[in-house]
Amino acid sequence: LVRLRARLARSQNSLGKGLLGLLSREHLDEDTWEEIEDTLLTADVGVQPTQELVERLRERVKVLGTRTPEELRALLREELLTLVGTEADRTVHTDESVGPEGAEVPGIVLVVGVNGTGKTTTTGKLARVLVADGKSVVLGAADTFRAAAADQLQTWGERVGARTVRGPEGGDPASVAYDAVKEAIDEGADAALIDTAGRLHTKTGLMDELGKVKRVVEKHGPVGEVLLVLDATTGQNGLVQARVFAEVVDITGLVLTKLDGTAKGGIVIAVQRELGVPVKLVGLGEGADDLAPFEPEAFVDALVG
Ligand code: GDP
Repeated sequence: LVRLRARLARSQNSLGKGLLGLLSREHLDEDTWEEIEDTLLTADVGVQPTQELVERLRERVKVLGTRTPEELRALLREELLTLVGTEADRTVHTDESVGPEGAEVPGIVLVVGVNGTGKTTTTGKLARVLVADGKSVVLGAADTFRAAAADQLQTWGERVGARTVRGPEGGDPASVAYDAVKEAIDEGADAALIDTAGRLHTKTGLMDELGKVKRVVEKHGPVGEVLLVLDATTGQNGLVQARVFAEVVDITGLVLTKLDGTAKGGIVIAVQRELGVPVKLVGLGEGADDLAPFEPEAFVDALVG
């Protein structure tokens, strides 16, 4: 976690440095405030949150009068933390529950998102976290459209010590998801993680398919978590995708991947605002250990240096 924090800090602190530099100018004129706005927008903070932040900063800087670098840093930290939010429930819920027939059902997690965002990788990494925690995990390869996707998930499963349930190529994703949870129940596993397909080209197709996967899985028991995986490097496009998915299923948590590859960490703020759903996990690399719980304080510290 320490190593991941360092990586987050490396990728993110240019935003904070830029802002602190601007806020430290002797004369905070209109042009400077505009530059501050531009800096936030460039970091994908989003229009509305940027305006709110700048308004509050203007007010508080006025009250401060003189500004020491320490004061400015503390102020920026506080205001960014307010925007990111410290109250949300960021736990990934994988607790067992009781099914319709009174049987114990593993924690069920659906992982959704557009292809290429890092869904399969995230599923594998999450399995690793759970296994390291002493839990037994079954993976479901419900992306039946790409044989490579199922292979990739299975490779992750073998690597982390989780069994992978897969179906025939082109088969029914919902049926694979159903089988995976059934397998998890039969094995007495603690959690079932279902990796779904993310073809966005036909929205109705996606809607039907994801809705069906969820309904069918729920025959076994409640879905504890629907994680939407978003690629942090895709900025506003990611927001558009997020909206489409949110129309299809109730998202319970967000995973922002590839934060190691972008300085635009402001997307955390924008996407939470857009969906009203907390970021729960962040991806900070391609390796098995490069998934971290999202911690608002650590994130904002990484931003302001
Ligand atoms: P999927 O199509 O959504 O299942 O995406 P994949 O899991 O196959 O990931 C797509 C690519 O992104 C792969 O090359 C991954 O190794 C890479 N990737 C996933 N998460 C991260 C991350 O947090 N950081 C970086 N740098 N790469 C990632």
